[in-house]
Amino acid sequence: MRIGEVFCPGVLHAIEAKDGLLVRIRVPGGWIEGTQLRVLADLTRRFADGSLEITSRANLQLRAIHQRDLQQIVEGIRSVGLLPSPRHDRVRNIVTSPIAGLDKEEVIDPRPLIHQLDRQLRAEPEFANLHPKFSFGIYGGPNRFSRDLDDIVLQATESNSAAHLHLFLGGHSSGFAVKSEVAVECILAAARTCMELAHECCVPARAKAILGLPGGLKRLTDALSHLPMVPAAAPPFKVSDGLLGMYAANRQDRVNIVPSVPLGRLNPEQVDFLAEASEEWEADLRLAPWRGVVLGSVSRSVADRLVGALNSIGLSCDGREGFHGISACAGITGCEASLADVRRDAVSIAQRLAGEPVPLRWTVNLSGCEKQCGRRRGATADLVARPTGYTLVAEGSLPASDCSPQVAIDAVVALHHRVLSGSPAR
Ligand code: SF4
Repeated sequence: MRIGEVFCPGVLHAIEAKDGLLVRIRVPGGWIEGTQLRVLADLTRRFADGSLEITSRANLQLRAIHQRDLQQIVEGIRSVGLLPSPRHDRVRNIVTSPIAGLDKEEVIDPRPLIHQLDRQLRAEPEFANLHPKFSFGIYGGPNRFSRDLDDIVLQATESNSAAHLHLFLGGHSSGFAVKSEVAVECILAAARTCMELAHECCVPARAKAILGLPGGLKRLTDALSHLPMVPAAAPPFKVSDGLLGMYAANRQDRVNIVPSVPLGRLNPEQVDFLAEASEEWEADLRLAPWRGVVLGSVSRSVADRLVGALNSIGLSCDGREGFHGISACAGITGCEASLADVRRDAVSIAQRLAGEPVPLRWTVNLSGCEKQCGRRRGATADLVARPTGYTLVAEGSLPASDCSPQVAIDAVVALHHRVLSGSPAR
């Protein structure tokens, strides 16, 4: 077990944060079982800060761990199968829609491809050297959230009644699509080529960096020319509204339930409840890349009861608790670099907005410094702490700088009212 070796954490690569050690657990596809969540709830209660944090790649992290307890945390995580390959501890970013396989609008069910990709990544030692931030996305249908950070993405699209998966590299269309049968081979070949070119050209092993090399895109696609790829126009990038509440699933008697998770943190009571609900009502439990959760494929007959119970433990299904769409980095309690108590300020904004409807696509990022970890692009507002105060960028312009927390909070609340008056709410 190594500590603080590089910045990006894993289970066997705990990093030192301001509040103690932090470990991050790979959860490919965001698929987690109730029994696993229960064990994590127990671990965070006994050895961490009592919460489970969901990351923007639908992984999990525990923080504020003492060195003396680290081994017990690792053993607990291992005991529920969340450390299947120690070598690939940090090769963990496989992202998909949190309602994959349960979505009425999907072109294909991407789950078998994700399982296959995960298995093959773990089977090949060379992929243990992938950059820890290297990220794969496989989407079977419409985009359910905005994400352009992934290195290699396949997105299903339908043309002439046949399903293909369009290949994106570093956020750009490759101009090609593949069939499902060769999808994983294509992804692995692209990842391998990224690693080789990065090594050869001394750039970070990320698809975006490779694309920045002269002829980078061509070199990447040439390396895939042995595969049966067809030239294809990129499918239009259209994000359907971020999910919140109750949605029809692909089975008539089932629904998907999407609560809001305040600042992406679950407390042990919430974790226990989700674990219990997934077992008692056979819900399909998923972590979502908007730092949330989904209870998928729930019987319609129990859905209202379940929504009521979620509301009562602070996991609101209508977003009117004020937190929906608001995200904050670790802030002053968790990060030495933070120049403001962004989590406290995020709570203040949520308290001011409580009881109000949520505008569509309402997103606010609060960052403790200019690094802006976990920032979602295209947010309605970005609040960034600087040595002279907060800077607010709202809808692409800069309406406030060097302001106090109170002024910044007032400005976000005013923006909320303005957006709400000009656009439909949920
Ligand atoms: S944005 Fe800055 S303050 Fe916030 S977690 Fe990242 S480095 Fe720390």
